[in-house]
Amino acid sequence: MSKKINLLGYSFESLKSFFSELGEPEYRAKQLLSWIHQKGVIDFDNMTDFNKDLRKKLNSVSIIKPPEIYKEYISDEGTKKYLIKLDSGSIIEMVIIPEKNRRTLCVSSQAGCALQCTFCATGAQGFDQDLSSDEIIGQMWLANFNNNKPITNVVFMGMGEPLLNYDAVIESAKIMKHQNSYGLSRKRITISTSGIVPKINKLSRDIDVSLAISLHAPDDKLRDEIVPINKKYPIKQLIKACKDYLSHFESKKNITMEYIMIDGVNDSINHARKLAVLLSNVSFKINLIPFNSFSGSDYRRSKESTMKSFKKYLIEKGFITTLRVTRGDGVDAACGQLVGELSNTIKGKNLIKHRSI
Ligand code: SAH
Ligand code: SF4
Repeated sequence: MSKKINLLGYSFESLKSFFSELGEPEYRAKQLLSWIHQKGVIDFDNMTDFNKDLRKKLNSVSIIKPPEIYKEYISDEGTKKYLIKLDSGSIIEMVIIPEKNRRTLCVSSQAGCALQCTFCATGAQGFDQDLSSDEIIGQMWLANFNNNKPITNVVFMGMGEPLLNYDAVIESAKIMKHQNSYGLSRKRITISTSGIVPKINKLSRDIDVSLAISLHAPDDKLRDEIVPINKKYPIKQLIKACKDYLSHFESKKNITMEYIMIDGVNDSINHARKLAVLLSNVSFKINLIPFNSFSGSDYRRSKESTMKSFKKYLIEKGFITTLRVTRGDGVDAACGQLVGELSNTIKGKNLIKHRSI
């Protein structure tokens, strides 16, 4: 018997073709999206507006299967971190960050990452696998239906480089946006990338979401060192791709530049000065991210006073600049700095790294 397909990761367009092959009309796609992603129903037999024949057909060729929650950690301030087990046995992480008026979900797009940024715990692990669209949207499904309050914002800032798993990321982002599923506006979905230039160019044509760039250094010399993908796509190409991206959209849009604050590495006023020159004349916001330490890393977070002066300088130069409040430290779960110390026996592989809490 051939493997049943998992419809959890199908966007409206994909479901439309799927139903059309079954000889069913287009509105079935909307109905199914709503059952799965609005009502949380994943058993075809409970989908009351599908007749018996259709349910039988669906059961024979497909399933709807979210990934499994393997462990859950809750910090004092309410941040929740989940370890999620994929079919392959690999473990990934997702984080829910509750705030006054929103609940942000940080999703993973890959297990591990190949890009080896020197400050990143995921990078230190190496690459394990791409997630399928059902494994990505499955995180959203679990976050919504395991917690009573709906997710209002999604950031692709978990494990992995989203633009190196392009198709699955776009398919899942389409489901996040669709009116018959989560209905999130473009402003509420942010894809963060270390700068995969050809894919930034493609992104503007495929979907309208918010974009964040992990810049972290104002010149190629330093960026080559701490974000090694820069050797392939240097800063000049990256900034050009960002400008092209912005010019593609008529609506007012900006790109967030993420800049991690590492003590003595990229945090001097001279770095701030270079950054201001680099980002001048374009609609960029700057988000300064205090470095989160993890074991095995020699870096330290910049001093509070250094981060404040850096921010002040950029604001004086006219940039909208924020300094991220670190959340989730209590569960070793700062979003984007996901996995800690490895010791996993699942399938005998060394895949999951976490501290016992
Ligand atoms: N690969 C993508 C998305 C995942 S990383 C990217 O690099 O953009 C998401 C964010 O977390 C990035 O801005 C990344 O630089 C940041 N990050 C990684 N390690 C971190 C650490 N140790 N402390 C703070 N932020 C970190
Ligand atoms: Fe990969 Fe992003 Fe970590 Fe760099 S910062 S290693 S691109 S996950």
